[in-house]
Amino acid sequence: DASLRRIEKTKSLNAFITVTSEIAQKQAKESDERHSKGKRKGELDGIPIAVKDNFCTEGVLTSCGSHMLSNFVPPYSATVVSRLHDAGTVMVGKCNLDEFAMGSGTVDSIYGPTKNIWGSDIPFELLNSIHKKGGESSSTLNVKQGVLEEDWHIAGGSSGGSAVAVATGSCFAALGSDTGGSTRNPAAYCGVVGLKPSYGLVSRHGLIPLVNSMDVPGIIARTVEDVTLVLNAIAGPDDHDSTTIKRPHKKISLEETVNLRGLRIGIPKEYQNSLMSQEMIEVWKYAASILNEGGATVTEVSLPHTSSSIACYSVLNQCEVASNMARYDGLRFGIRGKDTSSTEQLYAETRSTGFNDVVRSRILSGNYFLLKRNYEKYFVKALKVRRLIKRDFDNIWNNNIDILLTPTTLSQAPRLSEFRQHDNQTQCVTQDYCTQPANMAGIPAICLPIRLSADGLPLSLQLMAPMYEESVMMKTALWLQ
Ligand code: GLN
Repeated sequence: DASLRRIEKTKSLNAFITVTSEIAQKQAKESDERHSKGKRKGELDGIPIAVKDNFCTEGVLTSCGSHMLSNFVPPYSATVVSRLHDAGTVMVGKCNLDEFAMGSGTVDSIYGPTKNIWGSDIPFELLNSIHKKGGESSSTLNVKQGVLEEDWHIAGGSSGGSAVAVATGSCFAALGSDTGGSTRNPAAYCGVVGLKPSYGLVSRHGLIPLVNSMDVPGIIARTVEDVTLVLNAIAGPDDHDSTTIKRPHKKISLEETVNLRGLRIGIPKEYQNSLMSQEMIEVWKYAASILNEGGATVTEVSLPHTSSSIACYSVLNQCEVASNMARYDGLRFGIRGKDTSSTEQLYAETRSTGFNDVVRSRILSGNYFLLKRNYEKYFVKALKVRRLIKRDFDNIWNNNIDILLTPTTLSQAPRLSEFRQHDNQTQCVTQDYCTQPANMAGIPAICLPIRLSADGLPLSLQLMAPMYEESVMMKTALWLQ
């Protein structure tokens, strides 16, 4: 009930596409009954969670923020949704996103943009306190409020609805998805914790695909502990997703803390680009210095192909999008165009009315890159660059680096007007700069808030680790939290 009230109180931020009140009340009641019989399912029993609207939920609208799927009610649930259900959680709703998760601001959804709670006129008590080393909480810092309605700070994206749902306290955790940074970017801008697990650790079954070779379900919560609880509930093999690892997930325990002595932390110099704000650079240095003081060895390292990552991503993304979006033909899923004079006309009308400009332009570019005459020049070359990016990370791990520390974004959350100065493609260039390489390599990454900027907005950093090394990464994040 408290969650549903909180959703109502903060609805001007537009975090939710669907509020599943009835389901939530039913699941909460069932959980209460289990509690009274002493048959609790585990730590997550009765805990309110929210789900990004690109995960299939049986019997509940799953729109991907698109007109194309504005009537799509899946007959099954994504594996991660079923596993959370089996763990006894209570689903409070489905969260807003950029159409088909293509974006970094949650400004491109047919249900309207999601606004960040930070800098909004929502009462300050509803903001999370940022956990800082030394116990200083954000309530002692200067938070500016009352931003003009029409020029709010963006929530980040594409999982902006999920991040805002957590930041407002409408739920304890939310599922996002992360293909180029879509879980970490909004978590960073909203001052909450965002995890992109290793590719293959968590099933993608029922997550509507963007780029199959990079998509992973992401987790957003207020603390590293909460993120870990959810990860333990959803990770592990799944017969419905052949890319999941075959061995059972060994639950991560945060009881045992990280031993910073002996931990080697790398600071990749290429992550500092000319667009990075001075404040972000300072926060980065600050975190490196406290880790160093805590006993870790902190050294500068090099990932030389970092700056090629975005160009490479945009080719691979658009090629996979061109192929993935072919399923929306007006016949099998979602809306159907009115012009049924021929099959071609039906396809054309469905697709030109169903998709926004961003989706259509990615389909066109992807088909261009995949033309016989361009295939080698773009697609195959991008695959090779992807291999180089992955090799950069392998070299670092082989040189005994355990964890990489970088910013998550180049600055604090921009205002809508600033963000809108660029088109979707250019937005990715700046927004995904620090997050995207982890998706290319498949490695895990977590982002967590460190302190507030002079404008009173969260500044967050990211930790990255080798494949399936979530445990040490989460423990280091816990230390930093
Ligand atoms: N901004 C990137 C894109 O639009 C990443 C999106 C994502 O991670 N889902 O493709």
